[in-house]
Amino acid sequence: MAVNKKIEMSGLVQGVGFRPFVYQLALRFRLNGYVQNSSGGVSLEVEGDPHAIDAFMEALETEMPPLARIDQLDIRENVYTGYETFTIIDSEESDAKSVPVLPDIAICDHCLSEMKDPGNRRYHYPFINCTDCGPRYSIVETVPYDRPNTSMRFFTMCRQCEAEYKDPINRRYHAQPISCFECGPTLRLLDTDGQCLNEGEGSIIRAVEALKVGKIVALKGLGGFHLLCDATSPDAVLRLRRRKKRVAKPFAVMFPDIQHLKASAKLSAEEKQLIVSKEKPIVIVSKINGSMVCDEVAPGIGRIGVFLPYTPLHHLLLDRLGGPVVATSANLSDEPIIRESGVLMQKLGHVIDLVVDHDRAIVNANDDSVMQVVAGKHLFLRLARGFAPRSIVLPFNTPKKILAVGANQKNSMTLLFGNRLVTSPHIGDLNSIEAFEYFERTVETFRRIYGFEADVVVCDKHPGYETTRWARQLQTRNPKLQLIEVQHHYAHLLAVKAEHRLVGKVLGFAFDGTGYGDDGTVWGAEVMIADEQSYKRQFRLRPFRLLGGEKAVKEPRRSALALLFEYLPLDDILALDLPLLGTFTEDELYLQYKGWEKGLNAPYASSMGRLFDAVASLADIVQVSSYEGESGLKMEQYVDAAITRHFAYSIEEGVIDLERMLRAITEMTDRVEIVSMFFNTLTEIICDIAARHPELPLVFSGGVFQNRILLERIVRRCREMGRSAYFQSETPVNDGGIALGQAWFALHIKDTATEAV
Ligand code: ZN
Ligand code: ZN
Ligand code: FE
Repeated sequence: MAVNKKIEMSGLVQGVGFRPFVYQLALRFRLNGYVQNSSGGVSLEVEGDPHAIDAFMEALETEMPPLARIDQLDIRENVYTGYETFTIIDSEESDAKSVPVLPDIAICDHCLSEMKDPGNRRYHYPFINCTDCGPRYSIVETVPYDRPNTSMRFFTMCRQCEAEYKDPINRRYHAQPISCFECGPTLRLLDTDGQCLNEGEGSIIRAVEALKVGKIVALKGLGGFHLLCDATSPDAVLRLRRRKKRVAKPFAVMFPDIQHLKASAKLSAEEKQLIVSKEKPIVIVSKINGSMVCDEVAPGIGRIGVFLPYTPLHHLLLDRLGGPVVATSANLSDEPIIRESGVLMQKLGHVIDLVVDHDRAIVNANDDSVMQVVAGKHLFLRLARGFAPRSIVLPFNTPKKILAVGANQKNSMTLLFGNRLVTSPHIGDLNSIEAFEYFERTVETFRRIYGFEADVVVCDKHPGYETTRWARQLQTRNPKLQLIEVQHHYAHLLAVKAEHRLVGKVLGFAFDGTGYGDDGTVWGAEVMIADEQSYKRQFRLRPFRLLGGEKAVKEPRRSALALLFEYLPLDDILALDLPLLGTFTEDELYLQYKGWEKGLNAPYASSMGRLFDAVASLADIVQVSSYEGESGLKMEQYVDAAITRHFAYSIEEGVIDLERMLRAITEMTDRVEIVSMFFNTLTEIICDIAARHPELPLVFSGGVFQNRILLERIVRRCREMGRSAYFQSETPVNDGGIALGQAWFALHIKDTATEAV
């Protein structure tokens, strides 16, 4: 006997080809009824044989379109109506602002094979896309996500494209950026004066010729421009470094395909899976000896960031080139990624030789995501293209609209409203006017896309953070707005709790560079017992001075010197045979000592990041670093797992003291021994502290845990101890995760009560 079932679902079910998918399933199982978009997602009725409906339901959940995700599903028995067909009902766009805007997605296999098929009308078309792939967030101006609200509104569909767009069983049904040679954007090759040298495929041919002779080419991607050069040519890479004034910071490398990539990098199964995923992030992996990629790409480091082409244009260019390219974001340091060729020429005209440009505007910039696999789990170093904006449906509703503005470095923001949690893409370091404008533009974009008017704004406690100033000013202008400030390291830990929905007390290790402490001093190696409402700082590293303040961040040798000053008399230090001492003149050493004695521009800090720096300097691995995180990255290579000894340390009244480690290191010369024992010591300290609170789950966050070796060891040791260890795998462990922790705190303070649904 035929029955009727009514099904409602929410999640990522709109604008992802869900209705045509349901339509085709209904035809397959001979069911009648309808499907339509609703305010919260998709609703449908199916009528027919109960067994067929069961099979339909199973297929619904297992064969979903690649971009779809069902968060909530509700099935009810319904009155039998007697439908005679199955139909797609056009949307009323009732409450379109609750529909999430999806991230940009790499070209799908279908489109790729069409693009490579000489018989297809989109053969070699650089903007081919379908409902399952292509640009989204980067082209959207406002919601609903319809062509007139995107930068594709300047292109009128030709008849053939329009027919595909309107056909419910076509795989380009309602694909907003649909286009073809006849009606879509066009490629142009420009010189650095903006003169057009070529149009169409000729642009790619000439760009490839230029790359082959060592030239630097800017290419418009999904969320911004890349700078490209031949990754196998030391000359080309050094030219890029020289022109961009980027001494040693590693570049990411894009390979034509996975076979080429495997010839240059050692991949685990998880790493490979991530590299070929529909998001196509940059993944940091181990380089193999004999790799085609020259050493200048990542000098002195055994790991490289690799990724695959993710737009049709990338594929066309790399297929023709047949080898790997350096592909680095086009920007001036501390500024956001560039998305217009005019700005590109103005700012980087001296760096590039040619520009591959096109006329589909990038509305919202978005950098490449950067990840690594640690202990089998995904770890974000940067959450951006492919993953963000990330929208998650929560199992409860909040009456408040919370905007968390994050930290100053690796900034990102989080929105919490209704039952939705939205994480913005990586915005970056807010050290320039351009970067801060980008931050403000992103706030505005999210306000527009989600119809979001914050009534709670959350920021860090650091009075010097641009985001803190911005939030405080916003509150001054709008006194009804609630302003909440959250301690930096507590926010790190709350981000982990938020991701894992961990309720109640945890023992949290927040290890990073620096953050503003509740006592006004600099914190950075904090062990806290924390729940959603408050925290208690249980342990911390014994502070040492940051000689020269900010300068200490760039010069590991300053941290080493500060540690020496802390524990040894000056005469003893001068008698030591340490390479780091030789990097200062005698006058400089005395000057540093005076500064240390008097505390002139030398605040005390309990920073774990600076401790890494100090050890890297004492072991003569890095004295002056040319990019952030260099110490940790370089030290990884000196770890020998066969060395199991660790240095002696003491923990008294909550203070971790490493005097004995420091004294021991001054007598040692073997880098491998120093570094291995240092990693062992940190692991030992963490386990020691964990053992003092056997009842609490362990939580780890902060930039220091980007260190793969440290994190792997902790995971292994925790497993051996039978302890649960949690770290983030959906948001960055660095300051990119701060906004989530801030929002989570605001959600849990008393007057933002939540109601269960
Ligand atoms: Zn596609
Ligand atoms: Zn067309
Ligand atoms: Fe931090």
